[in-house]
Amino acid sequence: MVNYIQTETGSLLKNLTCPECGNIHDAAALNTVCKKCASTLFAVYDFTDGFSKPLLANRQANMWRYKEFLPVVNEKNIVTLGEGMTPVIPIANLKQFTVANNVFWKDESGNPTGSFKARGISAAVSKAKELGIDTIATPTAGNAGGALAAYAARAGIKAVVYMPQQTPGVFKDECRLYGAELVEVAGNINDCGKLVNELSALNGWFQISTLKEPYRLEGKKTMGYEIAEQFNWELPDVILYPTGGGTGLIGIWKAFDEMQQLGWIGSKRPRMVAVQSESCNGIVSAFNAGLQISEFTDGGFTIANGLRVPKPYADKQILRVLRESNGTALAISDLEMSAALKEIARHEGMLIAPEGAALWQAFKKLKDAQWIKDGENVLMINTGSGYKYLENIEVG
Ligand SMILES: *Cc1c(COP(=O)(O)O)cnc(C)c1O
Ligand SMILES: [Zn+2]
Repeated sequence: MVNYIQTETGSLLKNLTCPECGNIHDAAALNTVCKKCASTLFAVYDFTDGFSKPLLANRQANMWRYKEFLPVVNEKNIVTLGEGMTPVIPIANLKQFTVANNVFWKDESGNPTGSFKARGISAAVSKAKELGIDTIATPTAGNAGGALAAYAARAGIKAVVYMPQQTPGVFKDECRLYGAELVEVAGNINDCGKLVNELSALNGWFQISTLKEPYRLEGKKTMGYEIAEQFNWELPDVILYPTGGGTGLIGIWKAFDEMQQLGWIGSKRPRMVAVQSESCNGIVSAFNAGLQISEFTDGGFTIANGLRVPKPYADKQILRVLRESNGTALAISDLEMSAALKEIARHEGMLIAPEGAALWQAFKKLKDAQWIKDGENVLMINTGSGYKYLENIEVG
């Protein structure tokens, strides 16, 4: 075993552990999923010596401020474009809907390439660079491909991106501009995933499909650390998250666990809400039916392309977080998302992604149903910029 305690970044990474069967994998080697049971792997850190909160005070305002809890060992391998430490912005004008609640956005739209995918991809590309990878491939619904293309360009690594043909043009153009090899697929992200699987094996590419690679999760978990820091270590009561593959939801939850181990927060947790598109509502169905895994569910096109994930690889972990947190799951239609997007733009001055807009609609429904109670603090994660989706929005 490599000893990571004394390193340039101070990363406390210990190993990669399977959350399902407990099998431990060497973090110094290239890993994808659990070698025994094929589950997503979780990076585990050695928190025994602790880490004091005040040390954060002098850190840069990006996600690498938490570098001790990220997997990169040598500073020189960090591939960053300033991702993370995104603002928390309260609802200012639509108060007739929020009434007795404080409701906030965590606005991820200002990240490099316009979405929170930058966080996961920054971590994964950095670690791939550290492990000597020369080509990275991914299936994507749009934003992950653009982020990979940009960070790979920055790292001097070749990127290969498989994207559904139906994705708006901006998502394709950015990949090409960043120099990635883009392949358009007549199908959904699962079809892209199958192709990437086959061709990666054939060509020796390293693939970073959602939650089949351990470190995108680590990048996305930094949202959890930021939320705690920005809310002065008192977590919100409810967090709404637009769920595609579920990386952010699982990552935020993992961060809360880690911070409790560090003694930074107590055991109180937000209720986590997975919001899906009506087109791909397999998690909602499984949650309501009390099932532990979801069924393949694809109702076709949705304006929220990030939510068109018919069968999340880590469905088991997503459902576990929802239940452990006393959370819930609900699906929103394209019509509702589009109306919510316009309402937020016109009244709040934010052009959010349709995925984020789904949360605003979900908030209203949960408040009407009194699932969200008076006095509770609610946080919605706007995962991306609406500017990339204008092709899908009728402006009139
Ligand atoms: C990818 C994506 C999502 C879904 O994220 P997961 O981590 O896959 O659940 C939500 N919104 C946007 C804008 C995305 O790009
Ligand atoms: Zn396992």
